[in-house]
Amino acid sequence: MAKRDFYEILGVGKNASEDEIKKAYRKLAMKHHPDRNPDSKVAEEKFKEAKEAYEMLSDSQKRDAYDRYGHAGVDPNMGGGGGGAGGFADAFGDIFGDIFGGGRRSAGPQVYRGADLRYNLEITLEQAANGFDTTIRVPSWDECDTCHGSGAKPGTSPVTCTTCGGHGQVRMQQGLFSIQQTCPKCHGTGKMIPEPCTTCSGVGRIKRNKTLEVKIPAGIDHGMRIRSSGNGEPGVNGGPPGDLYVEIHIKQHPVFQREGDDLHCEIPISFVKAALGGDIEVPTLSGKASFTVPEGTQSGKTFRLRSKGVKGVRSGYAGDLFCHVVIETPVKLTEKQKELLRDFERLTVEGGSKHNPQSKTWMDKVKKFFE
Ligand SMILES: [Zn+2]
Ligand SMILES: [Zn+2]
Repeated sequence: MAKRDFYEILGVGKNASEDEIKKAYRKLAMKHHPDRNPDSKVAEEKFKEAKEAYEMLSDSQKRDAYDRYGHAGVDPNMGGGGGGAGGFADAFGDIFGDIFGGGRRSAGPQVYRGADLRYNLEITLEQAANGFDTTIRVPSWDECDTCHGSGAKPGTSPVTCTTCGGHGQVRMQQGLFSIQQTCPKCHGTGKMIPEPCTTCSGVGRIKRNKTLEVKIPAGIDHGMRIRSSGNGEPGVNGGPPGDLYVEIHIKQHPVFQREGDDLHCEIPISFVKAALGGDIEVPTLSGKASFTVPEGTQSGKTFRLRSKGVKGVRSGYAGDLFCHVVIETPVKLTEKQKELLRDFERLTVEGGSKHNPQSKTWMDKVKKFFE
């Protein structure tokens, strides 16, 4: 499929300022954001497309390359979230081949963007509702002190890869086509290390942990992600690092279930309270609240407390709290209590079906069924 023009994607002119590009991108990103369009493949594609266009046009070097050479002038790996190079890279090689002569060789070893990382952060419902600052430990990579990043044992040095001759790419004949692939021996670096550094096993860098501060915005929901730009894995051959995504996981709450920005809870009340009516105090995420159950409240009745839910991270409006009333049958009664209830039952039967309209309706249905 042909790639669309980056300016066209963002809906800006070729001479658009950095600010105009940023504004256009923000608008599109808000509109097509996956959190706003769950399960929409179209929105997801549009979001990715806008992101890629923005990443290219917001970087003056890349924008310059794009203006001169079009899609082939920019690194294909920037927008894909750590994906492979694909056919796009071949176009890159071919065009540069035309311009500089000598094909891919002059382009040197392949440059890759580092992979994105995901960090699962488990938080409580209260933390999600109110927002908080926290620190997380994430892997980071530092240049190896022993070999200073070369990967070779001190006193030795890397040599040119014999498989690809240092180009990082090999040509493979496949039927009628000749395709370029990353060299399987040197993985695109163009170099081989005969005696690897023992500290880093020839990788040239050492994994350490670093502490990152993360701001969790109030109202964040389960499954949402916070991007920490550039804190993913390092790039290969000088490529840019990937991003770190902090994915939010909200622990189950003992009282509330969250649905979007609304909260739900079950409230057991005695049948006496349900029959006579009265005030009920309920917990909310911001202190206590109360509501009145009217006389004759039935089990399963829901009471809605407006704005006592979670304030939405994007909407800025608070959801509601839904209290589902469950009538509890009393247990472990004393003789005295039982006696009172028997008296009560006798009076109720004497009073006729008006005291139990649901039972009456049900009995009528049953009678009709057996007729
Ligand atoms: Zn080393
Ligand atoms: Zn090689």
